[in-house]
Amino acid sequence: MEPDVRKIESLVRQLLIELGEDPNREGLVKTPQRVAQALSFLTHGYRTDPDEVINQALFTQTASSMVIVKDIELYSLCEHHMLPFFGRCHIGYIPGGTVFGVSKLARLVDMYARRLQLQERLTEQISKVVMESINARGAGVMIEVRHLCMMMRGVEKQNSTMVTSSVSGVFRDSLATREEFFSLIGRRA
Ligand SMILES: [Zn+2]
Repeated sequence: MEPDVRKIESLVRQLLIELGEDPNREGLVKTPQRVAQALSFLTHGYRTDPDEVINQALFTQTASSMVIVKDIELYSLCEHHMLPFFGRCHIGYIPGGTVFGVSKLARLVDMYARRLQLQERLTEQISKVVMESINARGAGVMIEVRHLCMMMRGVEKQNSTMVTSSVSGVFRDSLATREEFFSLIGRRA
């Protein structure tokens, strides 16, 4: 369901007043409208149909070597503060007869990232959808991001990167496979 943009606009107006601002001053007149549109876009993952994203670009392939897609740009909002976290996502999988089209994994990442998220849950969800939608033999996902809620407030750790990973199938069962994944994405296991 599409969000009620008018309603968000009026809430943002209220918020500006609560924060001590004058929503009628020149620079802020259109801010509620802009914020409503931005929030609607940044949460469009809730309204994306996973079947539509997944089913259109799957290809049959008999080879079973590891497929790696590195450095997928990732932008999300932390659900605790509704502030951005952003960085990169690396995905590897060993196909069980089906592979993803080239741009598909990036769209899958977006579908889950464009919501209010926890980094750990995002990592698991991407790993799960990769495994299940192509019946992969194994999958690994690593996410490296910086959280504005840490950088701008609280502990103010400006340079810390938070890393999460999730492995399943043969990536979980075989140390050699897991090591191959981490080495191909340029990280230590
Ligand atoms: Zn946060």
